[in-house]
Amino acid sequence: MLLTITTTHQPATDLGYLLHKNPARLQTLDVAAGQAYIFYPEATAERCTVALLLDIDPIGLVRNHRGPAGEGFALEQYVNDRPYVASSFLSTVLAKAFNTAMNGTCKDHPELPETLLPLEATVAVVPAAGAEQLRRLFEPLGYDVESEAHVLDPTVRAWGDSRYFTLRLRHPALRLRDLLSHLYVLIPVLDRCDKHHWINQAEAEKLLLRGAAWLPQHPEREFITRRYLRNLAQYVNPTLERLLGGEEARSDDAPLAASDELTNTDAPTAAAPNHPAEKKQGLHDLRLDEVAAEIQRLGAKRVLDLGCGEGKLVRRLLKLPHVEHILAMDVSWQELQRAQERLHVAEMPPRQRERLTLTQGSLLYHDPRLAGYDAAAVVEVIEHLDESRLAAFEQVVFARARPGAVLVTTPNADYNQRYGALSAGEFRHADHRFEWTQAQFAEWADGVAERHGYRVRVAPLGPVDAEVGAPSQIAVFQL
Ligand code: SAH
Repeated sequence: MLLTITTTHQPATDLGYLLHKNPARLQTLDVAAGQAYIFYPEATAERCTVALLLDIDPIGLVRNHRGPAGEGFALEQYVNDRPYVASSFLSTVLAKAFNTAMNGTCKDHPELPETLLPLEATVAVVPAAGAEQLRRLFEPLGYDVESEAHVLDPTVRAWGDSRYFTLRLRHPALRLRDLLSHLYVLIPVLDRCDKHHWINQAEAEKLLLRGAAWLPQHPEREFITRRYLRNLAQYVNPTLERLLGGEEARSDDAPLAASDELTNTDAPTAAAPNHPAEKKQGLHDLRLDEVAAEIQRLGAKRVLDLGCGEGKLVRRLLKLPHVEHILAMDVSWQELQRAQERLHVAEMPPRQRERLTLTQGSLLYHDPRLAGYDAAAVVEVIEHLDESRLAAFEQVVFARARPGAVLVTTPNADYNQRYGALSAGEFRHADHRFEWTQAQFAEWADGVAERHGYRVRVAPLGPVDAEVGAPSQIAVFQL
């Protein structure tokens, strides 16, 4: 199993610094599957190539094999393609051998990891459904993709091509760590052999980590996620949800056709303003001001903003001097990017920046990072969750994270009749899964409080109409 990476960046030997591997030395690495060798077939100022050769030990593989035995033909355990094709073993070795480069650090030349380099990668043998599949996966990432199919048996031409290809990728200007992350994720996606690729939550986390910068925009993101996680619904669905920002995960395994893409430019973003009439009233600003004022009244020092969207509440919280730390979380990577830009996080002075953690996560899965906070704001978020998942949300926030106070706001459905354009039963926003009346919200809030030992106060939010109440409503839970 052989991978080479070449650059013609000047001086090309910078590749050695970036990879933390001296071009003059052969390095050997013991890995679970066998041995890896790292060496430089060429290292001049004009052109430098690093090679990663993984020598898989098929006997060792059988010995360490934890899966069901006795599948396939008798000698299949020993006679198979594992030693030759690029598979998840290669990803494991990449992460081990080029760890610092993958994480974007370079002590000697700190600017290098961010430098866009001309890069070329060749993977000696990848299994693939065809040249078209290789293009579909790598071209959207900006590569020029070349592949050469290998015949099944050169002595029997009539048998045609095998499913093995030599893959050559060229990119005119790319960070090395991006190339490594692309290979790390896409090589196991191409390989259909499941036997040695064990899927667990840690694998899903690796996919989210290594794919964070590019997978959400990739047209084949759903196919990639499914294949990487070997179609195991218990991992695929939550991962897709985190990756795609709450968009509905679908259940078919078919690669996405052009017409089948998830990119629906007409769909409102989750945090798009609600009904236009709400916007005219400045209702959302009012809601956020009210929540910030409540957090001030509570004297909360460590605050969670759950489903933070583009960071409108965060901006207000940063202005409260007694708030020491804010952890703002959203399931949507796009919203987090927007928050980062709108809040000018990159330009913040370090003291200010340390007060804020912006992070991706879902409110439907237990997350230990959410523990130990004085207050949590959940502003206009619950109505974006399926009603059937509210029990999970309740567990995550009220049973596990248990902040000192929780402020939940949601639209008041009783008020919808004041919005002329909304016909009965229609919601204010296309992504809302439900909208509750004041009675429904109060009932839910009372139940949650009782089940988790909080006391709760439910109040109208916004100018109150004598007949239908305020446009929005808030529940303030306190321990
Ligand atoms: N609180 C923000 C945004 C409200 S819009 C504000 O008031 O401006 C709802 C937000 O909830 C969106 O940003 C959406 O991405 C997020 N969201 C939806 N489902 C989520 C989930 N399961 N976990 C975390 N955030 C979620």
